[in-house]
Amino acid sequence: MTYWRTPLDVNDIEITRGVVHILDDRCKGCGYCIEFCPKKILEFSTRFNQKGYHPPEVKKQHECVNCHYCEIICPEFAIYSVEADQERSDK
Ligand code: SF4
Ligand code: SF4
Repeated sequence: MTYWRTPLDVNDIEITRGVVHILDDRCKGCGYCIEFCPKKILEFSTRFNQKGYHPPEVKKQHECVNCHYCEIICPEFAIYSVEADQERSDK
């Protein structure tokens, strides 16, 4: 994204990173998460789940900003994200 001017605190802001988790068999293949992810990092996989749908998969994991939008919009509670640092410290 190009801004018409650079924010004054651009060097002070640290972008949060997330790790996406997908519960394949809950997915009904509606594509909402793929369509509305602001970073466009999701796409349909080629595999089938138990219901016969193609669940999403993450194509650019390192670009997830942990905004939780996919999680909020999914009607089946089939996808969620956690903060990358949090995920590492839980292991
Ligand atoms: S948390 Fe945000 S950036 Fe990450 S996959 Fe979901 S919608 Fe996309
Ligand atoms: S929004 Fe939920 S049900 Fe729809 S494709 Fe994404 S994970 Fe599957």
